[in-house]
Amino acid sequence: MAVTLPTVYSPKEIEERWSRWWLERKFFHTAPDSREPFTIVIPPPNITGALHMGHGLNNTYQDILTRWRRMEGYNTLWLPGTDHAGIATQNVVEKELAKEGLTRQAVGREEFVRRVWRWKEEYGGTIVDQLKRMGCSSDWDRERFTLDEGLSRAVREVFVRLFEEGLIYRGQYIVNWCPRCGTALSDDEVEHDEKQGSLWYVKYPIKGGGGHVTVATTRPETMLGDTAVAVNPGDARYRDVLGKTLVLPVIGREMPIIADEFVDLRFGTGAVKVTPAHDPNDFEIARRHGLPLVVVIGADGKMTEEAGEYRGLDRFECRKRLVKRLEAEGLIEKVEPYTHSVGHCYRCETAIEPYVSDQWFVRMKELAAPAIEAANEGRVHFHPERWKRVFLSWLENVRDWCISRQLWWGHRIPAWYCDACGEVFAARTDPAACPKCGSKKIRQDEDVLDTWFSSALWPFSTLGWPDETKDLEYYYPTDVLVTDRGIIFFWVARMVMMGLKFRGEVPFDDVYINATVLDQDGRKMSKSLGNGIDPIDIIGQYGADAMRFSLVLLTAEGQDVKLSPTRFEMGRNFANKLWNAARFALMNLEDAKDLPALKPEDLAFEDRWILGETSRAIEELTAALEGYHFHAAGHVVYRYAWNSLCDWYLEAIKGRLYGARPADKRVAQKVLASALDALLRMLHPFAPFITEELWQHLNELVPERGVFAARRAEESVVRAAWPKSTWFPRDAEAEGAMPLATDLVRAVRNIRSKLGLGERTEVDAIVTGENAGALEVIRRHEHFIKDLGRVKNLTAGTGLSKPPACASEVVSGLDVYVPLAGLIDVGEEKARLSARIEKVEKGLKGAEAKLSNASFVERAPAEIVERERERRAELAAEVDKLRSNLADLGR
Ligand SMILES: [Zn+2]
Ligand SMILES: [Zn+2]
Repeated sequence: MAVTLPTVYSPKEIEERWSRWWLERKFFHTAPDSREPFTIVIPPPNITGALHMGHGLNNTYQDILTRWRRMEGYNTLWLPGTDHAGIATQNVVEKELAKEGLTRQAVGREEFVRRVWRWKEEYGGTIVDQLKRMGCSSDWDRERFTLDEGLSRAVREVFVRLFEEGLIYRGQYIVNWCPRCGTALSDDEVEHDEKQGSLWYVKYPIKGGGGHVTVATTRPETMLGDTAVAVNPGDARYRDVLGKTLVLPVIGREMPIIADEFVDLRFGTGAVKVTPAHDPNDFEIARRHGLPLVVVIGADGKMTEEAGEYRGLDRFECRKRLVKRLEAEGLIEKVEPYTHSVGHCYRCETAIEPYVSDQWFVRMKELAAPAIEAANEGRVHFHPERWKRVFLSWLENVRDWCISRQLWWGHRIPAWYCDACGEVFAARTDPAACPKCGSKKIRQDEDVLDTWFSSALWPFSTLGWPDETKDLEYYYPTDVLVTDRGIIFFWVARMVMMGLKFRGEVPFDDVYINATVLDQDGRKMSKSLGNGIDPIDIIGQYGADAMRFSLVLLTAEGQDVKLSPTRFEMGRNFANKLWNAARFALMNLEDAKDLPALKPEDLAFEDRWILGETSRAIEELTAALEGYHFHAAGHVVYRYAWNSLCDWYLEAIKGRLYGARPADKRVAQKVLASALDALLRMLHPFAPFITEELWQHLNELVPERGVFAARRAEESVVRAAWPKSTWFPRDAEAEGAMPLATDLVRAVRNIRSKLGLGERTEVDAIVTGENAGALEVIRRHEHFIKDLGRVKNLTAGTGLSKPPACASEVVSGLDVYVPLAGLIDVGEEKARLSARIEKVEKGLKGAEAKLSNASFVERAPAEIVERERERRAELAAEVDKLRSNLADLGR
């Protein structure tokens, strides 16, 4: 049978072909059965998104776990899907409308939502296609969407139940408002930056004369909405003015000076303006003191009617003009530079405006308590463990969650208002009349729910809840969640709360928090910086396998990973090495069908060793995966493939494969096929495509594998059994002897390269020293050492003398001598080395002279001086090495 493996590895063709076949054969599809389940739900990417390297890493890990557990025999479900991404998607479609000169208000709610759905159908699948290209083995027949019918039912059920239990309420509160997006945001959706601003000291005159009180503010425009000035009750500076009335400049509003414990004596002048409608703390002060609310900044970020002459102006423009006027009137006492934290919308980066409005909230304290308990009792584990603290501290300090969004794209809040009797009620199906008074004059709330409200239900809503389905019973709770630290609050914590509330069980046993992907300078990859690496580009250039395996190898556990496109060469080089090695192996397995099973005594030293290495690699790899140590796991496979199998074993058996003794050849073939089989199984979760390609070729040539007993190979490596360490015998003698044997081979190779001899030049070697045991090992495995070290005569014994002209090395306390007689003309080599030493020393002296010249060191550019220093060090090292080589040649 001829081997059809092309000489060059071309991932594109391979990956497309196997991807198609896997999907056709529905290898990733699963349904409940008698096996034990293993379940992962994907963190649903936004439909607006394209795959970025963070997804690349996150989904590689999920696929490794999925493929590995599938091979282990679990009924494995990796449930895929996407998120409707309220604000983000609405923004995209609004931008499209703007191109047509339209707004969403102009087209109306129904038409707008229809257009978003159309956009979703057309573009929303991009990221799913990209995940498929990466090789993600999700059950694509089960793909879900947070706005699909089933999930919408789950959302509605949860809302109504929480409403009925009083855990959802509506109220007027100060919320984080994005004037650009025109919606409220939850506390976690606000990103805070330190900004260099100013602190204005503004004088408020006391009514009826008698001076003024000065207040300090970073946002002068909000003063138009002031309804009081507050001081700390213990502040002696203001004892006399307490209870007096102030007149608000520009507006002329009269307002009291009040005392409140909340006021910090050390901030500004100790007297603070109170703007209840535009500051969350002032809102609370106003509640305590019964102060009125005056809204001066509207939902659009522009000044309202209440702002008098500034009405209609943008808030920042108003600030400029107002400050000018106050200055002209002598009401600005001073201005100080001031660094303070400014909140920004996480979607559009517009400065957040605290805004008073009617919103819906979830009471979090009651829901958080069981989640805290679950983490403390170890029912949900974090990897790395430090993230448990982050999770707990958020839950312990959790505030009520604002869940209403003033958007059109999302789950519309299932709450109605009765205009006849004022009843507010929630309903599972759209009501026709008010349940209290029967009036038909009812209207539904206009807002939609925060996107995270639906994703909080993801682990059970995707399995059929609120129905008690077979899937739900079988696959829930899921086993592990692999996600990003950025959404521990947004998502992980809320899923734990909702899972406990509605299923009585945590949604997953383990949470693996993956590293953050940074650029080569350690900055976060972002669209605005333009420093991202597109996974699709990397797949196009190196292949999906190379991308996946590089990510695993480069990402050290618990650390963020710095990436540049060239770093993916690591995975590409590995794939090439594997390809070439497998090609060599397959060419030598063409006549290896139906080889008889082996007996232990048939095995050569290197066979016993590689089988033991295989067993050990399987054991280490499995343990690493069980502990979510992906980096360690990747390196086990890498070392096994590259060092053990390619560099040593394949080299060691070449003689037998090419040799004249068929019996020896057959043993080598049998062991080789088994080792390659094990490698493909071990590597498959990391590099699914290349392993499938090689698996199929191996299946053609050697369908029966196994060393001592025949094992029929599975039709696809996707469905192959995970290898067991007990499939392969361990051999203590080979394991103990191999390090010495390979060290000795390396020593002889070093000498050869030191002498400038070709790799194929045969040499003699003498090994001597006190360690009789080690010398015995060397004699026993003389054949291996001679073969790989290209040693013609190997002499090993105690007390052997050093030949007159020889090169030497030391291995495990033993001296290794390679006599030079017959290899090189010693006299000529000595002359060559001496001449070379003279020349290099001359250069060294020149560099030293330059560097001892003060004017050069002081005047030349720093990098030139540095280069000269490096040159001096290099030349000095070369002289040392040449001298030592010369000394080896003897007197
Ligand atoms: Zn925004
Ligand atoms: Zn009513």
